[in-house]
Amino acid sequence: MSVKTRVLVVGLGLIGASFAKAIKQAGVAYVLGYDRDPAVPGLAIDTQVIDEAVADLSSVTSVDVVVMAVPVMAIAGVVEQIRHLVADLTVLTDVGSVKGEVVRSVAGVLGDLPACFVPGHPIAGGEKSGVLAAEADLFKHHMHILTPLDNSSPAAVELLTGLWTACGAEVVAMTVQRHDEVLAATSHLPHLLAFSLVDTLARESENREIFKYAAGGFRDFSRIAASDPTMWHDIFLTNRDATLSILRRFQSDLSLLEQAIEHADGDLLRTVFTRAKSARDYFTEILESRQK
Ligand code: NAP
Repeated sequence: MSVKTRVLVVGLGLIGASFAKAIKQAGVAYVLGYDRDPAVPGLAIDTQVIDEAVADLSSVTSVDVVVMAVPVMAIAGVVEQIRHLVADLTVLTDVGSVKGEVVRSVAGVLGDLPACFVPGHPIAGGEKSGVLAAEADLFKHHMHILTPLDNSSPAAVELLTGLWTACGAEVVAMTVQRHDEVLAATSHLPHLLAFSLVDTLARESENREIFKYAAGGFRDFSRIAASDPTMWHDIFLTNRDATLSILRRFQSDLSLLEQAIEHADGDLLRTVFTRAKSARDYFTEILESRQK
């Protein structure tokens, strides 16, 4: 009988609990779970998310993998609590949306970056939070980005790749810096725009009356403004340079559209909209091919 990999998930929210549930269901790991809310690991047992609840991280002795699934600015505190495990780990990883800050946090606590450390980020998620939002299929047909460091051990990368593949994810690798630039453009900026638009409309309308008249366009664009404020607070404070850079480019392009409307420059509007439609159609094709 093969011995299952022992995986400790710290932070049993949407991402941590979904990962735990997926690897448990796939039968590839024995999953221990910890959350700062002491009621959560019990709920995770009841809902078949984990095999074993951990009440106190200092009591954990033998695990192969630790997955830190907490908001980015909580990572340093978690590393403090699991530092006694690091020397014997095969893999230390995380799921945070900003990789540069996670690497700085781990280095800040441990001094050196251990060879078992391989940062990661699943490109899947949603607006819900908490253990009861866990879905074993959350990562299926989605990418999981690993950002191995110069000294990350090949064995750590291999084990982690196996776990995420067992969740149905496609595992890809890139550098920490590239990850933070790409995600600033494709995820962080859209969330900022959604938060900002919904806030503007909510403040302008008496009793939010205006939302009664909103239809599909507003629903599609604004969905992500329901995301967790703590998580996004952490992302913008820790991926500052990359988000500011893409935000400034966007502001400049947006002011060109403002001028085009002001000066009735239909050609410019049509050019931008046509180019954007073609890019969006291409993105739809990519999405559809991923589902096959
Ligand atoms: P979530 O549903 O709010 O889950 C986070 C969990 O961690 C919560 O149960 C939270 O408890 C707990 N927690 C917070 N600080 C902790 C600490 N110091 N020690 C132990 N547990 C702690 O959030 P999530 O969406 O799963 O996000 C987790 C991570 O995944 C974040 O780093 C985020 O950037 C990343 N991520 C999120 C998405 C997404 O779409 N949601 C996608 C990809 C990556 P409380 O409820 O008490 O705060």
